[in-house]
Amino acid sequence: MKKILTGDRPTGKLHLGHYVGSLVSRVALQHQYDTMILVADVQALTTHFARPELIYDSIYEVTMDNLSVGLDPEKVTFVQQSQVPSIAELTLFYSMFVTCNQLSHNPTIKTEAKNYGYTEMTYGFLGYPVSQTADITFCNADLVPVGEDQLPHIELSRKIVRKFNEQYGTSITEPEAKVSTVGRLCGLDGNSKMGKSLGNAIYLSDPADVINQKVRNAVTDTNRISVKIPGNPDVCTVYTYQKTFNPDEAPNICSMCKNAQIGCVACKKLLAEKLNSILEPMREKRSYYEQHRDLVRQFIVDGTARANAIGKENLDQIKQKMHVAL
Ligand code: SF4
Repeated sequence: MKKILTGDRPTGKLHLGHYVGSLVSRVALQHQYDTMILVADVQALTTHFARPELIYDSIYEVTMDNLSVGLDPEKVTFVQQSQVPSIAELTLFYSMFVTCNQLSHNPTIKTEAKNYGYTEMTYGFLGYPVSQTADITFCNADLVPVGEDQLPHIELSRKIVRKFNEQYGTSITEPEAKVSTVGRLCGLDGNSKMGKSLGNAIYLSDPADVINQKVRNAVTDTNRISVKIPGNPDVCTVYTYQKTFNPDEAPNICSMCKNAQIGCVACKKLLAEKLNSILEPMREKRSYYEQHRDLVRQFIVDGTARANAIGKENLDQIKQKMHVAL
């Protein structure tokens, strides 16, 4: 079975954007690949180093989110990044194979620094593509599911691995990107991105009444000031969600909206009902794990132990080739 590495930064609970962009395919892929789910707590530190309690709690939260959508703990391996020393060692070794210029000119890094409002970058933040390369390769993952915006990182990872293999005669797997074909889900406020820090997200764990409220406040066609005026679904955030989560009814909603046969209140009610019907089974599963946190902890501990065994074996071979092992 080929290995796939995916994961989440534990900086809060996961939302519908994560669900659409990554979790749905993760659930399907677990049957075809040896799936490693990295809970990237070290990477979370690159931006949230001053909030260790949030990261600690979120390790549980993101693991429960993954379990609630249908990741099977018998099939997938949950890995706590900070507890895998081979990742840290590889990060250090790889850092000799990348220049500061390569990192500072990486378009994804530049965009992310801008999003976080950084005028200066810490060494850890700047170097996270290097640590990401170690995340992917400590277990010789073959594939990494990514969005288009992450492609420069994977390209850099491949370059680092190629140079490293050439230099030391190692046979570290050059990872391939598995680009998600699913578009990004916009935020409820119409922002092109749904984000934990943007206050425009629906979380997988939100209760039904919270979802009803959030959908009621979502942005629609702002020119539609009365139910009697025909709407334009093409500029409506709510309609984007209808297409994604309510595809069977969306064409009819579109036509009714254009002909002023449905009002935004009714349209939002339909959407909230649909979302709640999708999320209710996840909430139930999550509630079970919330009451059995020890079990969640055990999944992470056991998965990390497996990852450590794999990582140690690979790193021992790498160190032999590098002549750093006596
Ligand atoms: S009826 Fe629905 S699709 Fe049309 S503008 Fe209102 S919320 Fe958007």
